[in-house]
Amino acid sequence: MQKPTLRLILGDQLNHQHSWYQQKDQNIFYVLMEIRQETNYVNHHIQKIIAFFTAMRAFAEDLRTQGHRVIYLKLDDEKNTQSLTNNLDNLIQELDIEIFEYQQPDEYRLSEQLKDFAQKSGCDTEHFMISPTDFSDFFKGKKTFLMENFYRMMRKKYGILMDGSEPLTGQWNYDADNRKKLPNNHRPIEPITFDKDVSQIYNLVQKQEIKTIGRINPKAFIWATTRTESLALLDFFVENCLENFGTYEDAMHPSYWSIYHSRLSFSMNVKLISPLEIIEKSVKFWEENQDKISISQIEGFARQIIGWREYMRGIYWTKMPDYENLNYFNHERKLPNWFWNGQTKMNCLKHSVGQSLDFAYAHHIQRLMIIGNFSLLAGIHPDQVDEWYLGVYIDAIQWVEITNTRGMSQYADGGIVGSKPYVASANYIDKMSHYCGTCFYDKSKKTGFKACPFNSLYWDFYDRHADKLSKNPRIGMAYVTWNKMQPSQKAEILKQAEIYLNDIENL
Ligand SMILES: Cc1cc2nc3c(=O)[nH]c(=O)nc-3n(C[C@H](O)[C@H](O)[C@H](O)COP(=O)(O)OP(=O)(O)OC[C@H]3O[C@@H](n4cnc5c(N)ncnc54)[C@H](O)[C@@H]3O)c2cc1C
Ligand code: SF4
Repeated sequence: MQKPTLRLILGDQLNHQHSWYQQKDQNIFYVLMEIRQETNYVNHHIQKIIAFFTAMRAFAEDLRTQGHRVIYLKLDDEKNTQSLTNNLDNLIQELDIEIFEYQQPDEYRLSEQLKDFAQKSGCDTEHFMISPTDFSDFFKGKKTFLMENFYRMMRKKYGILMDGSEPLTGQWNYDADNRKKLPNNHRPIEPITFDKDVSQIYNLVQKQEIKTIGRINPKAFIWATTRTESLALLDFFVENCLENFGTYEDAMHPSYWSIYHSRLSFSMNVKLISPLEIIEKSVKFWEENQDKISISQIEGFARQIIGWREYMRGIYWTKMPDYENLNYFNHERKLPNWFWNGQTKMNCLKHSVGQSLDFAYAHHIQRLMIIGNFSLLAGIHPDQVDEWYLGVYIDAIQWVEITNTRGMSQYADGGIVGSKPYVASANYIDKMSHYCGTCFYDKSKKTGFKACPFNSLYWDFYDRHADKLSKNPRIGMAYVTWNKMQPSQKAEILKQAEIYLNDIENL
């Protein structure tokens, strides 16, 4: 029998397959806690808090059913001090604990807090496919952190879609075949939802007066919060969405909020399901259904999970804590208030922000090329952008939120994650979406009445940051076009941008 041991399980460490649970020992106490320290470090979407607490409660119940000893501190438990370390101190005293163990947190903030508390590092969460040390070894001595090289290494390392050391079909990247707009008469599949009554937890959060954002129907909560539901979500994805995943991964539409996306990010980020099992299942399904699923679909999906997701985590651990203060363009503007209610005349933003508030979800291109693009063009302070993204999305945990937001989308890291800023005018948005057709603004106008704000803000951004961007070989063409414009036209565009930025609350 082990000495009395306390093992901490954080809200995003719900890994049923962790080796901890292979051993059953009545001297090992597992603790999970709902604490204000976590509900309050940022203003979260109500669905995000409910998803975490629902998943944690189900996980605790499952461990108990398997015969483990579990302590679960609910938000309103009278013993709950609402602080992680104070609760741990009390439990250690109360239960005469001799050994304290924890799994390495994914967030820098919690990692530091627990390192101070325990005076040692935590054990592995047994979830990710590459360790932070192996990640930095891979990039040691290299000038840039090129995702494509990392992704190819991961494909080789795990033998995913490989024929020996070569890609299965002779080609690593199918991006060129993907990324199409939804055809006009195309109706994507209705997403599977789980429609659970979460009123009890919802009422608790309300009663405790936790400040939240966004909307919820607590009688029919849509998200997967158990392993069984997460596996059902994965089955639904491979059977119904994979065949169109790559083709429409960048498409946007005002009537469809998830198109063919998997919506597995929450389940994966809280570790109810592992990236490797998702990839193995998807690849197997593709192998058995090659008559209807092309290689470009499965390659596109694998790239997101074994490529981007693992890459972002590696960048986070290589670059924190400095990363969270980077502001390459010295942007200072405040986020407009309509980010919290979706009330803007810009149709693309109305729908992308609106669905983020309705579902705590937007897909990658809505996050990057609509909301992030606008924030960058408008020169919003990256702290404000980060805070909004970290709060609003169901899957937002700092390691994957900040690298995507501050890095990929705001280029506030000066080019660690991306080789150029992701900015675009209405031309791109119209090419990939059905937003512009019914917009108040005119996508084809740069200046004047109803001119699309993206058009003038786009040139204003390049003009403002010419000192930092004009020498970037990947952007050169934009400056050639800008410099060819007549000075009077340039002045008109910059004036239009100024008018819009001064009236940002009413756009
Ligand atoms: C500004 C911005 C902020 C983001 N914030 C988050 C965040 O807080 N949490 C989060 O999990 N993802 C974040 N992403 C990445 C991506 O948008 C989401 O993972 C994805 O939209 C989740 O939906 P899905 O599960 O339907 O994804 P799918 O489109 O079905 O993709 C499958 C999986 O690939 C992974 N993935 C895809 N792209 C990325 C990426 N760029 N980085 C990491 N993983 C990726 C996710 O795990 C996702 O579940 C952000 C992207 C941007 C541009
Ligand atoms: S016209 Fe401009 S603001 Fe309107 S939807 Fe298109 S890109 Fe967005």
